[in-house]
Amino acid sequence: MKKETILKLIIISCIILFFLRIIILKINNNNNNNSNSNSNSNMKIIFVGDCMFGRNGNPFSKTPFINVESLFKEASHIFLNLETTISNPLLNDNYKEDKVFNYQSTGEHLLSLKDITKKPIFTAIVNNHTLDYGLKGLENTKKFLRNHKFIHTVKQKVEHNNVVFLNATDHCGCNDPKFWGENVIMIDYNNLEPIYQKIKNISDKFIVFSIHWGPNWVKGEMDQKIKNFGRKLIENGVNIVFGHSSHHIVDNPIEEYKGGIIIYGLGDFINDYVIKPQFKSGKALICVINKKGKKLSYETIEVKRNFVKEGGSIPFLQ
Ligand SMILES: [Zn+2]
Repeated sequence: MKKETILKLIIISCIILFFLRIIILKINNNNNNNSNSNSNSNMKIIFVGDCMFGRNGNPFSKTPFINVESLFKEASHIFLNLETTISNPLLNDNYKEDKVFNYQSTGEHLLSLKDITKKPIFTAIVNNHTLDYGLKGLENTKKFLRNHKFIHTVKQKVEHNNVVFLNATDHCGCNDPKFWGENVIMIDYNNLEPIYQKIKNISDKFIVFSIHWGPNWVKGEMDQKIKNFGRKLIENGVNIVFGHSSHHIVDNPIEEYKGGIIIYGLGDFINDYVIKPQFKSGKALICVINKKGKKLSYETIEVKRNFVKEGGSIPFLQ
């Protein structure tokens, strides 16, 4: 074969390979787009309650989610209530708000969750510890979450792939509720219309509303006022009300209501609190909500909070 012919053949082969490569890339891209646009039709969403990682830099397990790893890996979305300021380095006591308990930690414990899953993690940061270390503490927390791609918000809705997330609290456990009210959404049960209006303005989205509600210790079921609020949120368009605050599993912790789901209280997931046997606060629930099309169903998995030698108490599957 002539040298010229060989050269021609090589050039033609290269051109064919080049176009083949482009076609393959296009097919892959289309597949990805399809899976993205369908990503919310089916979801497996994990909800857990309060997570705090010790106080004053006390020793604490660096891998607090280690025993629930297998479950978390299966989830398409994760929601948790972050009950602590995150600051690295830790802020000094001058930043402390006048409260009985002020929580802050360095964030490495929360970050260990990113080693377990790359799926979206929605972090509720509006609760009675949001401003434990003042505005600087809140700024540091937001910076940490932003840098590590945890989805979060303070006052406005945040949206991720068609999931809209909002968070609020009905108490601050502080001496300056005005300060809290100026910086986070504080629920006033006598004036709920603005909250409902906020939700009504969101259309065609899957809405999760996180609410830190009620007392630490609840005798029996949640208060009627709280139940009414949760149900009204659903009636106004919320799909899942993610309630938390009680240090233990409340009676009837989850309710299915008009196609939505209301979580009243799953108990504390990670912390350093002593266990109150009369409330069985050493137990907590993981709530797994399955979304198939528009239909929601849920299951619960009980965990036991045990103290570990590294510090703190972390969940163990039963
Ligand atoms: Zn709380």
